[in-house]
Amino acid sequence: MGMTLEAIHTRSVKESANLLDVDPESGLSETEASRRLEDGGPNELEEKKRPGVLRLLLDQFNNFLIIILIVAAITSFFLGEPIDAGAILVIVILNAIMGVVQESKAEKALDALKQMSAPNARVLRDDEVQTVDTRTLVPGDVVLLQAGSSVPADLRLVETVNLRIDEAALTGESVAVGKDAECTFEEKAALGDRANCAYMGTSVAFGRGRGIVSATGMRTEMGKIAESIQSYEEEATPLQKRLNQLGKWLGVISLSICGVIFLYGLIRDTDPLLVFREGFAAYVSTYKQNVIDLVMTAVSLAIAAVPEGLPAVVTICLALGMQRMVQRHALIRKLPAVETLGTATVICTDKTGTLTQNQMTVVRAWMPGQMVEVTGGGYDPTGAFRRDGEEISPLEDRGLALLLRGALLCNDALLRRSTRGDEAEAGDGEQHSNGEHSGDGDRYEILGDPTEGALVVAATKAGYDKQQEEAKWPRVAEFPFTSARKRMTTIHRVPAEGEGPADGRVPLAAGGEYLALTKGAPDIVLERCTRVLRAGSVDELSATDREEITETNSTLAREALRVLAVAYKPLDEAPEETATDDESGDRVEQDLVFAGLLGMIDPARPEAKEAVELARRAGIRTVMVTGDYRETAAAIAREIGILRENGEVLSGRDLDDISDEEFRDTVEQVDVYARVSPEDKVRILQALRANGHVAAMTGDGVNDAPALKRADIGVAMGITGTDVSKQTSEMVLTDDNFASIVSAVEEGRVIYANISKFVYYLVSCNIGEILIIFIAMITGLVIPLTPIMLLWLNLVTDGAPALALGVEKGDPDIMKRAPRPPTEPIINAEMRLGLIVQAVVMTAAVLGSFLVALYVFNEGTETARTIAFTTLVLSELWRAFTSRSDRHSLFRIGAFGNRWMLAAVGSSIVFLLVVLYVPFLLPVFNTVPLNVSQWLRLLPFTALAAVAAEITKIFLRRQAYAAFSGGARKEENNV
Ligand code: ADP
Ligand code: MG
Repeated sequence: MGMTLEAIHTRSVKESANLLDVDPESGLSETEASRRLEDGGPNELEEKKRPGVLRLLLDQFNNFLIIILIVAAITSFFLGEPIDAGAILVIVILNAIMGVVQESKAEKALDALKQMSAPNARVLRDDEVQTVDTRTLVPGDVVLLQAGSSVPADLRLVETVNLRIDEAALTGESVAVGKDAECTFEEKAALGDRANCAYMGTSVAFGRGRGIVSATGMRTEMGKIAESIQSYEEEATPLQKRLNQLGKWLGVISLSICGVIFLYGLIRDTDPLLVFREGFAAYVSTYKQNVIDLVMTAVSLAIAAVPEGLPAVVTICLALGMQRMVQRHALIRKLPAVETLGTATVICTDKTGTLTQNQMTVVRAWMPGQMVEVTGGGYDPTGAFRRDGEEISPLEDRGLALLLRGALLCNDALLRRSTRGDEAEAGDGEQHSNGEHSGDGDRYEILGDPTEGALVVAATKAGYDKQQEEAKWPRVAEFPFTSARKRMTTIHRVPAEGEGPADGRVPLAAGGEYLALTKGAPDIVLERCTRVLRAGSVDELSATDREEITETNSTLAREALRVLAVAYKPLDEAPEETATDDESGDRVEQDLVFAGLLGMIDPARPEAKEAVELARRAGIRTVMVTGDYRETAAAIAREIGILRENGEVLSGRDLDDISDEEFRDTVEQVDVYARVSPEDKVRILQALRANGHVAAMTGDGVNDAPALKRADIGVAMGITGTDVSKQTSEMVLTDDNFASIVSAVEEGRVIYANISKFVYYLVSCNIGEILIIFIAMITGLVIPLTPIMLLWLNLVTDGAPALALGVEKGDPDIMKRAPRPPTEPIINAEMRLGLIVQAVVMTAAVLGSFLVALYVFNEGTETARTIAFTTLVLSELWRAFTSRSDRHSLFRIGAFGNRWMLAAVGSSIVFLLVVLYVPFLLPVFNTVPLNVSQWLRLLPFTALAAVAAEITKIFLRRQAYAAFSGGARKEENNV
């Protein structure tokens, strides 16, 4: 873009809008936006270049073992073994290619996930509010900000309502800075002082605002310092760290064993003392071939035994798992969470929208002395008002009209006819509620908070039009809603002429130039009322009135209705103070006139009940943590199955009264926390974690950030959540649904189980291979496997099935087991047993078929080796099948359930046949074609290891059953 936008903070709002060539009231047109996008490029910080394929390929050779192998190849070439040398080189190259493929696949999968978690921004384009990918923002775009949103580009603010922005990311200043669009500054003003601008990467702490994009991408202030913040870390998960450690460990052990085998071989096959008697040259010339053979065996064994592919396979496995989670509406933001999920023991969940559908519908309006029912469902604004079964016209009733109009004006939600047709799909992360409703072919949607949306719908049913009312009663100030305040207030200028009763609309209030409207949690609002509007006139609020109101509130709440109270107060002047924190507004929000209660239903999500039960069987307790009223919370919790027979309900106030110590004791009994503030959430987490729980906690507001950070798994809401909550969370639910948390836990368990399955498989294969060579060495046998065979095994037989194990669907009972203790090592006790049994049996099988060939049938070394090799390959392949479940028999899970496994095993078998029967490969692998009777003879041997694995599983199943029923008993005692 050709324009210079430097020093935009020195210009007035008007000048800035002109400079940026946009009308701040309607925004850019879509065509203009895409033209500017073409010109100026996307709004993103450039990332450091990823290593290219060549770099990755070269990295593969930067590996100690591979270097040894290459040296070995070169040596054997000069020693006159060109076939061996060639074979080794081919295998080295194949290995490297395989490594590159695995690594770039892992990278791609991670990239795809990063794309998905790309943030959105709310902009005004073509005179409409739209949600767009922040990367498509262009200079001139008009961006809407609200508490919790992150600033998507550099903005020249044009409207600020109590706007405070947390600029710590940019300036290091931890206190949020107040913003004011009307100021201008001199050019030299420090970044932190430019109150008329907002900068990319900062976030809105309070209030709301609007700004014109003045710079995007690398031209933003953040972009200018981007170099220094480029070092974004790809965090290794604890599992990856432990696996790397395990890999090193295995490496060291196998290298030592190889060393021992090599030294032992030197002593056995050569006479090392010759070096001292006749010198090195003589020794080498005498034993040249023996030494070469030994070096080759030791090196190839080392290659075969060290699980160098492990890290890449683990990354692929985690990344694929994350993709599966996305399909189930859980977006993982931090890789370690994948594992932590599998260990979760408690899920603390919000109620509204997570356990419930967040499709609020107002069904009751109550004013002192009269209860009115409202019909209709969802967001379709058609329905009637009934009193004692008879339809009434709501605007004729002064009290009801006021109640509804108050709820309509003290409200930031918008009701509109859906323009998005049928693609109303949850999970696209858009900022509006997914609770669309169709009636008469029309669909309606709510832009904003569903609770407020329900109020708009109710008022619209009565005949109000939000836009018209807002034009008549312009909002001049406001004290926004926060979870801590549990209320909000707006101040409106009273129209010069109150609308007369002629059009059926009564004046909202008598006296005062301005009108304050407050809505919020009934008890909080009632505390601030001293008067009450009854049957059209204002009275003192008596103790009996209070009682009646509280009583009604409880009755409605027990019917699982969410109840909001509306109150008002005429003012002579608009308040000068502006809201700066959670307590502000206190001066205005007192001495109010109570207008009435509105009760809305928010039906439980049908899948929530099942999910709670599923979690319970998996040893995970679900706890409801809500800002809502105690009775409402308890009623829904009971319906969904969260509140147990003898479970307790605690409120935020109860929490204030107990010490941390006491709380630690009671926390296990409490199923429902009502009326909690964001700070209470932190306390609940502390108590749970002190008791050794691994806790997931949901959150959506700005204030939830501390709780989300403190939780083992912070879960943010994709649809209704603020940017800040998303950024501090480990996981984002793209459909805001509790059931998705449970699905994510399940996937987390599956992923971990799969990783442990292939670790198990790979390690047991490697141990088997080492044992075979080791035993052959110390017993003085001919080595049953040639170096090339070992390398081939490493490449073909071990790799592909391991990858296939990584995409297993998971055991059918994976959600019927207790959570895995977070400290449990990857190779746990069960696995150690299995490892030993299988390695021993496999070794016995291979040596058995080898010895039979050698000594019973006198078939010669080459044939016997081919038979040993074939036995080993097939043993491992069959074992790959049984490794698909660590507890269930192959018969239970079905042999053909995993297509990848079939492909992996199938292609390995084809490769084996190629090696055995393609004539020109025979000398390379030192193999001979086997005949039918040899096949028939070796096949039973190949089955032994798999059979041993199945028998081990029977044993483990018994043990696990005993342990789990014991565990379940213990759990019941806890209750
Ligand atoms: P939750 O959504 O879990 O019920 P919140 O912290 O969002 O918890 O809300 C706390 C309480 O504040 C609600 O129970 C309700 O009484 C009140 N409340 C919720 N939304 C609004 C709103 N937009 N305006 C006024 N009061 C509200
Ligand atoms: Mg809420």
